[in-house]
Amino acid sequence: MQAKNLTRNILVGMTLGAVVGTLINLIGPDKPGLAFLVKDLFPLVGQIFVRSLQLLVVPLVLLSLICGTSAIDDVRRLGRIGVKTLAFYLSTTAIAITIAIVLAVIFRPGVGLELDYQTDFGVSESPPLTQVLLNIFPSNPFAAMAEGNMLQVIVFAILFGLAASLSGDPGKRVLALANDLNEIVMKLVMLLLLAAPFGVFALVGRTFAQEGFTAILALGKYFFLVLGALALHSFVTYGLIFKAFTGLSVRQLFFNLRKVQIFAFSTASSNATIPINLENAEHRLGVKPAVASFTIPLGATINMDGTAIMQGVATVFIAQALGVDIGLQGYLMVVVTATLASIGTAGVPGVGLVMLAMVFQQVGLPVAAIGVIYGVDRLLDMARTAVNVTGDAVVSVIVARGENEFDQQIFDSRE
Ligand code: ASP
Repeated sequence: MQAKNLTRNILVGMTLGAVVGTLINLIGPDKPGLAFLVKDLFPLVGQIFVRSLQLLVVPLVLLSLICGTSAIDDVRRLGRIGVKTLAFYLSTTAIAITIAIVLAVIFRPGVGLELDYQTDFGVSESPPLTQVLLNIFPSNPFAAMAEGNMLQVIVFAILFGLAASLSGDPGKRVLALANDLNEIVMKLVMLLLLAAPFGVFALVGRTFAQEGFTAILALGKYFFLVLGALALHSFVTYGLIFKAFTGLSVRQLFFNLRKVQIFAFSTASSNATIPINLENAEHRLGVKPAVASFTIPLGATINMDGTAIMQGVATVFIAQALGVDIGLQGYLMVVVTATLASIGTAGVPGVGLVMLAMVFQQVGLPVAAIGVIYGVDRLLDMARTAVNVTGDAVVSVIVARGENEFDQQIFDSRE
């Protein structure tokens, strides 16, 4: 896949969309001809693109989570290492989203960008928390999939993946099939991404035609807020946790990690970075293979703190732009759903945004509004992928050190 060309094309699509949209905005979006573009053509192309993204949500979550869960092969052998790793992955992700939400609430990046999207948010009474929790558990997996109830699909996928990994040969056969299907769905994502420059052009063009410079400012705020949250989580959260649990030098950690981060940044893919991260964990960070071989691939599959940060900021941003008050319960829902969504996010470019549809569906925001941020997502994808793989490596060292599977000499050696 020509990721570089795709990045360039999406950037071109976004820039052209912004320029054309701004021009239309200056000339007057209601002028005959231009109104057709803004009200009909751009929304049509944009909607087709958004629908194609939505199409992939259920199969993506189902397959990547079944495969992800079954990566915890032979649960008993992995024992404590598995539990510890999962606990760190989940808690750091929850911290990441919390940082994202708090920053977005404080800096209010979406306020002032009045989006023209319909939302049913706030119309219906929010159900009691017990009902919300109960709703996570599916009674009919097919109904959950048909309705796009992603929390239920996720629970089903985790249970299925676990059972399959404990089922011997039948489980192995089914998991092999699930892996194959997963690859095909991934290919579909890749194929769809080829159309992204056009979809982006239409979505950004429409937004800019309608919003003008307010949109540029609002997207700029969103963009830099995500970057700020990523930097904060990367250096402060990971730094503090790393120091607290290992007592090792945080500076040395980041020095030893730079190659992995650069590779993740340029490929925007945690999956593609697995070989580099694995090699680096063993030869630069001092993590013994017994731990690294489990934690790094598992982390690339389920641990996406950078993605969760984007999802947290994006949800609050869009809610603010739509003038919707999510409320405390809504924020809690975002923390839970974005944690699960980031677990279900496959480590390839752009999937974090596909999975954002799930968070939106759960909190009642219109999925079409994701188009607003698509234009700046490719760049953010690169930055958040670097954070995603950093989290995997940090947890690997913490777990390895706690389990006496760590070589400090390797960690301390420079170059
Ligand atoms: N590109 C990210 C990764 O591979 C996933 C995403 O957020 O889209 O880690």
